[in-house]
Amino acid sequence: MATETFEFQVEARQLLQLMIHSVYSNKDVFLRELVSNASDALDKLRLDKLRDDSLDADTSDLHIRIEVDKDARTLTVRDNGIGMSYDEVGRLIGTIANSGTAAFIEELKESDGEEDQVEGLIGQFGIGFYSGFMVADEMTLLTRRAGESAGTRWSSRGEGTYTLERVDDAPQGTAVTLHLKEADPENQLHDYTADWTVRQIVKKYSDFITWPIRLGAEDEPLNSMKALWARSRDEVTDDEYHELYKHVSHDWRDPLETIRLQAEGTFEYQALLFLPEHAPHDLFTRDYRRGLQLYVKRVLIMDDCEALLPPYLRFVKGVVDAADLSLNVSREILQQDRHILMIQRRLAKKILSSVKEMRTNAADKYATFWREFGAVLKEGLLSDVDNKDALLAVCSFESTDSAAGTGELTTLQEYVERMKDGQEDIYYLTGESRESIENSPQMEAFSARGIEVLLLTDPVDEVWVDAVPEFEGKRLRSVAKGEIDLDAQDGEQAGEEREKQAEEYAGLLDWMKERLADEVKDVRLSARLTVSPACVVSDTGDITPALQNMYRAMGQ
Ligand code: ADP
Ligand code: MG
Repeated sequence: MATETFEFQVEARQLLQLMIHSVYSNKDVFLRELVSNASDALDKLRLDKLRDDSLDADTSDLHIRIEVDKDARTLTVRDNGIGMSYDEVGRLIGTIANSGTAAFIEELKESDGEEDQVEGLIGQFGIGFYSGFMVADEMTLLTRRAGESAGTRWSSRGEGTYTLERVDDAPQGTAVTLHLKEADPENQLHDYTADWTVRQIVKKYSDFITWPIRLGAEDEPLNSMKALWARSRDEVTDDEYHELYKHVSHDWRDPLETIRLQAEGTFEYQALLFLPEHAPHDLFTRDYRRGLQLYVKRVLIMDDCEALLPPYLRFVKGVVDAADLSLNVSREILQQDRHILMIQRRLAKKILSSVKEMRTNAADKYATFWREFGAVLKEGLLSDVDNKDALLAVCSFESTDSAAGTGELTTLQEYVERMKDGQEDIYYLTGESRESIENSPQMEAFSARGIEVLLLTDPVDEVWVDAVPEFEGKRLRSVAKGEIDLDAQDGEQAGEEREKQAEEYAGLLDWMKERLADEVKDVRLSARLTVSPACVVSDTGDITPALQNMYRAMGQ
């Protein structure tokens, strides 16, 4: 049959080049990626068969098999899973469907393929398959989609093009064959045709995979197949947890934090959750794939189960294994399921308490976490009323008391402890950057009096401050809204002074109000300025200029 040649989509080609030519040292991980894909394919077939018993596919002995050929210098990873159709191969292997890819690649190119950059880009775009080109100069893939009679052969040398060909007699599932480069141990390019090497790599990276991974003609699996969450805590190493994280998240980097949870009682479940170290670039877009893997007694029944996490924790990865759920429950039903909702609440609480603990016991980790995910977490102040206090306990902010550029942050609790005698409220100002906030005239009186002001620069800050009227009995007040009587804090003498001034300037104020009637609601004498002659403030209930901009950007 005819072989057709296609060009990789531009973005796919660029990512491929970046990876092949990078200095990425740990080349062994290509096998982890191919095994991970094979395992996903087996999970998918089992699920499809569960939903549709008439699907023409054999699910009696689902497994992964690795075969090596020393003479031909090839390594093959074979699965009898879901497979891909002709069109799917082109779409899934030849292109990268991810918004913002092009801009992100430009950024990466400028940083010339450093090790952790490569790890970042692979996780962001799900291009684990391409990692085969780190060790091979040619890859072929033979696949047949479950339920279809004909298969497809894909082949590429990792340069600009790939070929596709329809094949009549392809076995069920997918076989990926690598034509290996010469071994070069100095560059961590091992001899992957050696059984011993394969055995070791599988043990190290894929031991927890729940499908048997067989080598050559042997039936005895290389992996123990034990679900990590079902093993006792002290039996599992951090490295093992990290490999599971990489499998479920497709990230190549270690997680920042691993969280375990075991719920006993009438509705039993186990959860293994991970906080990533880096926020993905599409976290704030609709494309972002969120959710946890949902298992029922070690059997995966749903990937990306969104109902298990509230939206503001969408960056959390991991698995939940429940004892008592129907195997073929639908996504729609899960969204309403009482037990799932219970799990969601429990997980949210557990995640927030882990972050709090991190803040107390691992300040550096917490700082990384907050830098990457603080803006998402604050969305919870709007949506998760039950956890408002737990959220406020881990939120931290820049303030006029922390030196610019140091990244030093304060919690509301710490702010309150530092409040001056007589200060009743917690003051904040929102804006685009710390610099623009600090230079705004509204800040003058506060800096002159040495009153600390929180500097809020995330777009979401404009919104949550209205949902949190007070903290520990102290009102949260914008420096830019309404009338602020700082004199109460300056003592009585200042108060008398202000009354005298009010009388003195009454005429001027009336005149200004009349002249500016179309522009402003009111003209007042202000105690907040020390250098600037005047400033514009909003009414307490009005939306701020930055929020107006945000709504405009959202098309409202
Ligand atoms: P990711 O696994 O992060 O999606 P990969 O580059 O590893 O990215 O794989 C790309 C896609 O190719 C997968 O999402 C899957 O749809 C398809 N694929 C890869 N390997 C297999 C396989 N063995 N069986 C079926 N589909 C596969
Ligand atoms: Mg993959």
